[in-house]
Amino acid sequence: MNENSLKKTLSKLTIGDLRYFDSIGSTNDEALAWATENARDLSIVIADEQTQGRGRLNRKWFTPKESALAFSLILRPSAPTHLSRTVGLAALSIAESCRTLGLAPRIKWPNDILLNGKKAAGILIETVWSGEDVDSVVVGMGINVHSTSIPPQEFLQFPATSLEDELGKAPPAREEILYNVLNSFIHWRARLESDDLIKAWEEILAFRGEQVQVKTGSENPITGELLGLESDGSLRLRNAHDKSIIVRFGDVSLRPAA
Ligand code: ADP
Repeated sequence: MNENSLKKTLSKLTIGDLRYFDSIGSTNDEALAWATENARDLSIVIADEQTQGRGRLNRKWFTPKESALAFSLILRPSAPTHLSRTVGLAALSIAESCRTLGLAPRIKWPNDILLNGKKAAGILIETVWSGEDVDSVVVGMGINVHSTSIPPQEFLQFPATSLEDELGKAPPAREEILYNVLNSFIHWRARLESDDLIKAWEEILAFRGEQVQVKTGSENPITGELLGLESDGSLRLRNAHDKSIIVRFGDVSLRPAA
């Protein structure tokens, strides 16, 4: 993967500009800085290796070189942003690219993509505000392509996998996978406000119909049956008293109930 091969593969898509790095701290950091310098809509920062890749709450995201896809898209919304749907848009795009490969992805709400119950990709969304308005949204995606992208066991709270492991053979070139993700992203972004987006997202939610536990930073964990999504992308559960509970975005971690 290099700047030329990326530009060539992506030339058929309507995207902004592209910045490629052999190695970088975090693609989201570079994208956030670029966003404040008037980057064009759908510009991309992509790196072969991240040395300070981030998950939510500054948890680490592992991206060793030549192993994964790590990139950040800069969105410059001209209309209301539907921020809470953007993570679904990103998750759906990764999931569809996995499906193209014959895999059966599930979305662990809100921001992880599972293959065979293990984490194969994650999403980190960050926002640049201008007063009360959204100036830009940075959508970071990390996809484990080769087996070498899987972090060491002691690094993980949730099992991880890669496309290579799930396919049982060499995956396509990373450029090709990126093309599929972006193609799907562009498709669904044009439908960000549609019911279809929520429907497609809901259909592939992990643990649907099962008992789950949701941990939210401070409060006690919530346990209930995972029913589906609200129209803003919030998660709907039913607790033991048959009461509907809506879980909004934030630092929440979803797990199967013990
Ligand atoms: P979660 O959704 O599990 O609460 P985050 O979305 O914040 O966590 O992702 C960061 C966590 O993901 C890290 O703490 C680590 O356990 C795990 N992780 C880091 N890199 C990878 C990777 N390449 N593949 C799978 N899991 C990873």
